Amino acid sequence: LNCSIAAFEKPLAGGIVAALVFRDHTQSKRVERMRADFVANASHEIRTPLAALGGYIETLLGPAKDDPVARARFLTTMAAQVERMTRLVGDLLSLSRVELTEHTPPDDPVSLGIVLRRVVQSLEFRAQAKNCKVDIVLPDGLPAVVGDEGELEQVFTNLIDNAIKYGKQGGMVRVEARLIDHVPARSGWTGDSRPVSIAITDQGPGIAREHLPRLTERFYRVDAARSRDLGGTGLGLAIVKHIVNRHRGALTIDSTVGVGTVFTIYLPAKA
Ligand code: ADP
Repeated sequence: LNCSIAAFEKPLAGGIVAALVFRDHTQSKRVERMRADFVANASHEIRTPLAALGGYIETLLGPAKDDPVARARFLTTMAAQVERMTRLVGDLLSLSRVELTEHTPPDDPVSLGIVLRRVVQSLEFRAQAKNCKVDIVLPDGLPAVVGDEGELEQVFTNLIDNAIKYGKQGGMVRVEARLIDHVPARSGWTGDSRPVSIAITDQGPGIAREHLPRLTERFYRVDAARSRDLGGTGLGLAIVKHIVNRHRGALTIDSTVGVGTVFTIYLPAKA
């Protein structure tokens, strides 16, 4: 800030240069701040299950040493904590991998039918546990999209898993792909090939409007305790956003509290 004020007192040309430097400076400060916040959040998320594990180990070595019932119970809880940390580290790695490659868009033809069916099959167990029905609606002759199959599988896994996880017990999740003419302007779509939209609709509690703009930020959760209880890492939608960006695609979120939420992904169709 000091630097920019001093520079503005100089002649016009110098002032313009200074204004540019100033903007660059605030931008890099913002990036630095976000990075520091991210490291602090990630450390906190890892430290919590580690502290719990430490506590259980101490109890197992001490008071619960000769109690087989308590031992079995603690070991089960410890296994769940280890699973949570493993998921978190997996998501952190996915995020850093996709960030590193974000400047090079993938260009393979990907069949959405194959990817969506595989994802829904892999989540069948979770859907059954909530007595939830997942429907895929695909028109005949839907073109392939341009992208990376593995990354798109991750996008749809995260979104459909959320729809089941936060959706209604005994409810329905609808996954519908279509070739469309126009992408809503609010999505920020900049592609020139025709887009395919994939909408994932749930009958969950919905998300209040004020949360929507921040939903894809890392570790942003509407209800942190509920997310953790359901095994969430808070990184799923951040990963989705980065993969969609890498594909030069777009994402919109529409939600009505008490009715449900629609996440729509737009991807370039293969010409
Ligand atoms: P998490 O691991 O917590 O699910 P995500 O990044 O996938 O993290 O999602 C961020 C937050 O967005 C969630 O904690 C939840 O509050 C909210 N959210 C995501 N999907 C839905 C949905 N389909 N319905 C309601 N809330 C959702």
